[in-house]
Amino acid sequence: MPRVISASAVSFLTGALLLANFVGSSEAKEWEIYRLGGRDYVSDENVAKFYRFHLTKEEKERRFTHPALVMTWTIGSQAIYVNDTKFNLSFPVIDSGGRALLSTVDLAKLVDPVLRPSQIKKFITFNTIVIDAGHGGHDSGAKGIQGYEKDYALDTANRLKKALEAKGFKTVMTRSNDTFLTLGQRVDIANRTRNAIFVSLHYNASGSRTGQGIETYALAPRGTRSTNGGNPWNSLLSGNERDAENIALATAVHAHIIDELRPIDRGIKRARFNVLRGINKPAILFEGGFITNPTESKLVHDPAHRQKIADSICNAVVNFKSAVSRRR
Ligand SMILES: [Zn+2]
Repeated sequence: MPRVISASAVSFLTGALLLANFVGSSEAKEWEIYRLGGRDYVSDENVAKFYRFHLTKEEKERRFTHPALVMTWTIGSQAIYVNDTKFNLSFPVIDSGGRALLSTVDLAKLVDPVLRPSQIKKFITFNTIVIDAGHGGHDSGAKGIQGYEKDYALDTANRLKKALEAKGFKTVMTRSNDTFLTLGQRVDIANRTRNAIFVSLHYNASGSRTGQGIETYALAPRGTRSTNGGNPWNSLLSGNERDAENIALATAVHAHIIDELRPIDRGIKRARFNVLRGINKPAILFEGGFITNPTESKLVHDPAHRQKIADSICNAVVNFKSAVSRRR
């Protein structure tokens, strides 16, 4: 007999996955927990019932559909899709006697905050965005075909600042010129800014010229696997207090960029980057494309493209704010 925990009322994400809630009511009153290999899981059927999805099973694939939303899992895979936005799970979906099982860590730290941002518990209202332009000074970051990451990041940060201020937000820049800051200094600025969220802006590089696409990082929650940054299994490093908000913010930004700019989607990922680790407020790190790739470097080098990135992140912040402040 699986262990049982209680459930509460349900709201969903909109079709475009832009983080506005709409409320349904749950039929399931509880979660049945399966324990396998020392880890807790919930079943595909339980998830479908809880969120009132229609569930279709086809060999390894599970499709959860709702008028405004489709979520897809594949047994054995660590990638799930919600309306074509790719999320990287901490643990693969596993098969148990024809049931597809999702870890409770991924349910609590990823799927639920993505589907129901209004349910996030500890949320504080925010009116300020700490904008962190990656690198700076002697640390040029990635060296692209046409320029340095530090310069593109700062320019994008300046554009984001303007866009957010036009929407009535306050902004704090960790750097506003070509200076070097340690990661600790960036964390300190974030932590002493009240009523804020933190957005770190970067561009990517790969050894070959083929790497491309955008990715958005939220801190890997405690006990989960990180895809980059630090020991992947170092569960002694706690997530921060903001795991649910982090993934909801990452979802908002990532989904807006995918929706508005149609880049290659490398997915939403979890990491223990130092800059995300010490921060006591919702925080993400956005990688806006590979400046080592001929196609993307041309795009990133174009100020009009950087403006689109800034505008898209700004729209995401507006939607994130309205989604998380609409409480039950
Ligand atoms: Zn960087």
